[in-house]
Amino acid sequence: MIDLVIRGGTVVTPESEGHADVGIEGERISGIGTVGSASREIDARGKLVLPGCVDLHTHLASTPTFTPLDDFERGTRAAIAGGVTTVVSMVYQEDGSLRLGIERGMRDAERSLADFAFHVVVTDPSEGARAEIAGLVRDGHAGLKVFMVSPRFVERREDYRLLLRAASGAGALVAIHAEDYAIVAARTADLHRRGRTGVENFPESRPVEAEVKAVVEAVDLASATKAAVYLVHLSSRAALDAVREGKSRARVFGETRPLYLYLTRAQFDRPDAALWVGQPPLREADDVDAVWAALAEGTLDTVGTDHIPHTRAAKLAPGLTFDRIPPGVSNLETLLPMLYSEGVRSGRLTLARLVEVLATAPARIAGMYPRKGAIALGSDADLVIFDPKMRRTIRAAELHSACDYDPYEGWEVNGWPEMVLLRGEVVFTGGHVIGSPGRGHFVPRAPMATDSHLRSA
Ligand SMILES: [Zn+2]
Repeated sequence: MIDLVIRGGTVVTPESEGHADVGIEGERISGIGTVGSASREIDARGKLVLPGCVDLHTHLASTPTFTPLDDFERGTRAAIAGGVTTVVSMVYQEDGSLRLGIERGMRDAERSLADFAFHVVVTDPSEGARAEIAGLVRDGHAGLKVFMVSPRFVERREDYRLLLRAASGAGALVAIHAEDYAIVAARTADLHRRGRTGVENFPESRPVEAEVKAVVEAVDLASATKAAVYLVHLSSRAALDAVREGKSRARVFGETRPLYLYLTRAQFDRPDAALWVGQPPLREADDVDAVWAALAEGTLDTVGTDHIPHTRAAKLAPGLTFDRIPPGVSNLETLLPMLYSEGVRSGRLTLARLVEVLATAPARIAGMYPRKGAIALGSDADLVIFDPKMRRTIRAAELHSACDYDPYEGWEVNGWPEMVLLRGEVVFTGGHVIGSPGRGHFVPRAPMATDSHLRSA
């Protein structure tokens, strides 16, 4: 007799949707279809059974000078409650070493409730750092991150090109924050000169043209170095057009984040607009339409949260100029239910596509598939039993993040996770997280395919 069966739910994958039982032995899926009796049964009739979501973009790890409000324990508590069973956190190169950043992340993640992996932010693309990449990839750390919006990227363009070259050779994916430093710096300085320093100027300081210019440059760099690049938090129609074109000539993946699906620049007419400051800024309604279309059609591959909340007081601190407001918001717990409610229920995304962008595609891109992101024999039993009829109003006080506000406070949502399993264990049920800190394990990432005959740069 097997350990557990989830009985009679509608099992959803990118390829199929239908009534099936899911059998679990130990930590893995051992049967799909009609499964015989088990030691324990969970009745999923009338519910959707989805693969646990994989979020490739969080900031849960500390740095030597910063501990996030939602650290690994707090952040993954919110993740688990929202059906996100695997998180990838940014960690930062430390004292010149990429590995030291990873080691700090591994220490922080000892309290994780969700499975986890990392991207290392490269702030000094030195020869020594480049030489570390192959060893890190061998140890399952096949991800880097580059901020094009940093002045360092401009000063050390050639070193960053060599970094992408090294990443390509070793099979590391390179996540890229694509906003052009020169444009953002010039706009920011100009606004300051004119005394326009309030939060309402934030969108103007980071225009669409800065995003487009950086996306085009990132694609050129990916094309020249044969690196696989993952463009994070894409926000505008014009940038998505550049990504679509880029996919025809380089290995380019696209991510958006929830902010750009649900809100517009109109938020910046509010006196408390700082609560929605993230980089890039919120765009126009036409951009929101373009983000939805790109998600449905495949120009966008994933939705990552970029989860890094700050308290209301930190966001609204008096005297903060638009460029000093701490960027980022909370999103891990609402990622799945909001995309279901606003995407699937409203007819903008199919259920199959929802599963693909939140679970299957991110697992593939990060080298975790089919262990993660799949409901298949032998896959980890990371499952969300999702109640499409549950109605909730989003209230920060009822969510698991440490943050005291939510960017979607008061939104009515149709559909919410009822139960979440991580490797066969129920970790969320009845509105309560019952998994314990330390239950999450490191998920080694397989390298990206390297295509040696393409190597030329
Ligand atoms: Zn981020």
